[in-house]
Order: sequence, then structure tokens, then C-alpha cells
Amino acid sequence: MREFLQRTALWLVAITVISCGFWVASSGTDALLALAICLSAWLAFNLYHIALLMRWLRHPVAERVPDGFGVWHTVFMTLYRTMRTQSQSKKKLTHVLERFINAGEAMPDGVVVLDELDRIEWVNPMAVEHLGLDRKRDVGNQILNLIRQPAFHAYMKNASFSQPLMLTFSQPRELVISLQLVPFDSTRKLLLTRDITQLERVQTVHRDFVANVSHELRTPLTVVGGFLETLSDMPEVDDRVFRQFLPMMMEQSRRMQSLVEDLLTLSKLENSPKAVNSERVDMRDMLDTLMVEAEGLSQGRHQVKLLRNCDCGLWGSSQELHSAFGNLVSNAVRYTPEGGCITLAWQDEGEFLRFSVADTGIGIPREHIPRLTERFYRVDRGRSRGSGGTGLGLAIVKHVLARHHARLEIKSEPEKGSTFSVVFPRERRHDAQAA
Ligand code: ADP
Repeated sequence: MREFLQRTALWLVAITVISCGFWVASSGTDALLALAICLSAWLAFNLYHIALLMRWLRHPVAERVPDGFGVWHTVFMTLYRTMRTQSQSKKKLTHVLERFINAGEAMPDGVVVLDELDRIEWVNPMAVEHLGLDRKRDVGNQILNLIRQPAFHAYMKNASFSQPLMLTFSQPRELVISLQLVPFDSTRKLLLTRDITQLERVQTVHRDFVANVSHELRTPLTVVGGFLETLSDMPEVDDRVFRQFLPMMMEQSRRMQSLVEDLLTLSKLENSPKAVNSERVDMRDMLDTLMVEAEGLSQGRHQVKLLRNCDCGLWGSSQELHSAFGNLVSNAVRYTPEGGCITLAWQDEGEFLRFSVADTGIGIPREHIPRLTERFYRVDRGRSRGSGGTGLGLAIVKHVLARHHARLEIKSEPEKGSTFSVVFPRERRHDAQAA
């Protein structure tokens, strides 16, 4: 600015000196003429540069700032430098903004930016997925028109957003979403969304499990407690009555013991590393033990047979496999009425090895089969409890098999009987002779 004023002043001084020179050397008229010519030249010079400036202003690009002469050169250079600094900081800002947007896009949680009227300004892909939005169509629309659930409308009206809101969506798939509004910038809001479907499922399973265990324990405890109360109310305990109660109390305490043992086995399996610690399992010994156990459980009420077409053993955990096979054998005995037949088989099928327990028992209606390995799932509660079942046997089998990369096949027909087969991949085979 100072330079501009100095240069302008210099021009005016020069014009005045020239005019004065004419006055002294010639006449007043010549001096006026010289003044007019100089001022016109100065005006033309400035108009020319103003025209350059106006032309540049139509497309103000830093690289195309005109050169100019004299004072105008300084003006244009200053303009050029300002433009450069501005475009550099604009580039920097754009870069920072891009990075923020990229970070928002990559976030595992959903983010929706709402304006002062709760219209969507920006939305990331996760929020699109969680809330079923369309990025092109829905930006600019009011969020309340897009999420119609009354609980969400109440939450938005409430204006207290300290707690998240849980919403369940059924389309296009079942989703449980946690939503939280975070006001910012005095009028705007951030809507954060998180998929908690899996967490909810785990919590439901956990809640059901605790309720089931409590229920399973409450019944025998009530029975034992009831007996003890009756006995304590009697002034003198009649030995005959006492002996009558004793087996029932023992039966209930056995039931609790089996339940706790199964729970501990299940918890141990669930908390162990996924890969089983493999050892050589001699299937001849295993089958002999299972036969003895089956006969012991059956007490001569069934015919128990063994079929074997190979002598090979398995790589796996002997203890875990015994627990799984034992559960299948015990089920066959418990769900087969007296006079029925139970067949244990160990077969090499080339690609697979198969251990199976077939019975001619009560069988299972088809619709129950897919759910049998769920914890506490029973086809007939009364019959399971009556036969000493805990409802955890097949859940234990499922865990053991998963750790041995084996699968469970169930074939059953009501009133005809069931076959539970454990199918091992060939890699689990080892030759008994090598043991
Ligand atoms: P439980 O302790 O009740 O036997 P399991 O997990 O071992 O629990 O079995 C789950 C349910 O599957 C049983 O309650 C029973 O209804 C059914 N089931 C299992 N094995 C047999 C079988 N061999 N024959 C008929 N039903 C069976």
C-alpha cells in the first residue's frame, strides 16, 4: 500500500514538474495542455490495467494473473501471492477433509450427520447398511421420515441422548442396532449406529442358559428340601418313613450331581483351545469299555451288539471321545424300551471312519432333530428327567466332535428307533498295530 501511494505521488509530482516547466519555458496555455496530455496518459495507463484486472477476475486463476507495469505490477504480484497462499491452504483443507471422510467411510460403526432440521447431510456405508438407507436418494431427507419406528421418534423428541436406543430391524435381515445421538455445533447432530445382533444373541443364550440351569437345579432341591422339612416337622422320625424318603432324596441328589458334572464338562470343552491335544486312541479298548458300560446301564433289559469292520484307531482325545460315545450309548439305553436292541458299530468307509449307535427305541419326530444338540433341548422333558437325563449330553457330543473335525449324523423314526453316527475324516485314522 505504501509503495502504491509513493509511486502515485511520484507520478503526480512528475506531471506537476512537467507542467510547471512548460509554464516557465513557454506559456500558461502550453502548461495546461501538457498537464491535460500527462493526466490523459496516466488515466489511459490506469484504465488499461483496470481492464486487465477485470478480464482476469472473470477467471481468477493464480497462474494467469497479468504482469502489469509500474505500480500495477506490484498490485498484480500481491494478488498472485495471495491467490497462491489461498489455493495452497485450500488444497491442504481439502486433503484433511478427504482424510476425515475416508476415515468416516472406513469406520466399523455407522455415522449419520444431521442438520438443524434433522435432515441427512452425510452418511457412511455402515449406517446405510444398519438403517437400510440409500445414499443417493436419502441425503437431504428428514431422518424421521426414513426410520418410522415409534421408539426412534420418541427418542428424537426426548432430547436426552445420554443412553443409546436399541432398535430391531427385520428387513433385509434380522438386525439389532444400537443408536445414539450426539449433538454438536449447537444445532447439528451425529447419529451413531452399531450392530449388536451377535451380542444380543449371546446375551439371550446366556440368559436362557442361566434360567435353564436354575430351573433344572430348583426341582431336585425343592424335592430334597421338602423331604427334609417334613422329617424335621416330625416329633419322632419313624425309621420306616425315613427309609422310604431316603432313596428319593438320593435319586434327586444324583440328578444334581450329574447336572453339575455335565455343566463342568461343557464349560471345560468351551474354554479349551479349539484344536484337541491328539493322542492315539485305541478303538478296540474303547469299544470294549463302551460295551461293558452299555450292558451295565441296560441291566439285561436289552440286547447289546457290536459290529466292527476295522481294527484301526483314532487320533484324538481319548477322554473326550469316551465322553461323547458314552453319551450316545447312554441315550440309546435310556430311550429304548425293554426288549429292544442296541448296536454299536465301528466302520471304515474309505473316505471316512464311522462310529455309530443304533437302537430300536422310541425314535424322534423329524422336526426335533435339528435342535437336539442345543443345551437343555429335549423332545420329552418328563421322559428325559425320568431316565436321569440332564439335557446336556448331545451338547457335549457336539463340542467334542467339533474339536475332532467330525460330524454327527442322526437318523430316526418315531416308534422304530434311531441311529446316531459320528463321522471322522480319514486323517484321524491310525493303525492299531502301530500303537
Ligand atoms: P438328555 O439328557 O435329555 O438325554 P441329550 O442332550 O442327551 O439330553 O439328548 C437330547 C434329547 O434328544 C433327549 O432329551 C431325547 O429327547 C432325544 N434323544 C437323544 N438320544 C435319543 C435316542 N437314542 N432315542 C430317542 N431320543 C433321543
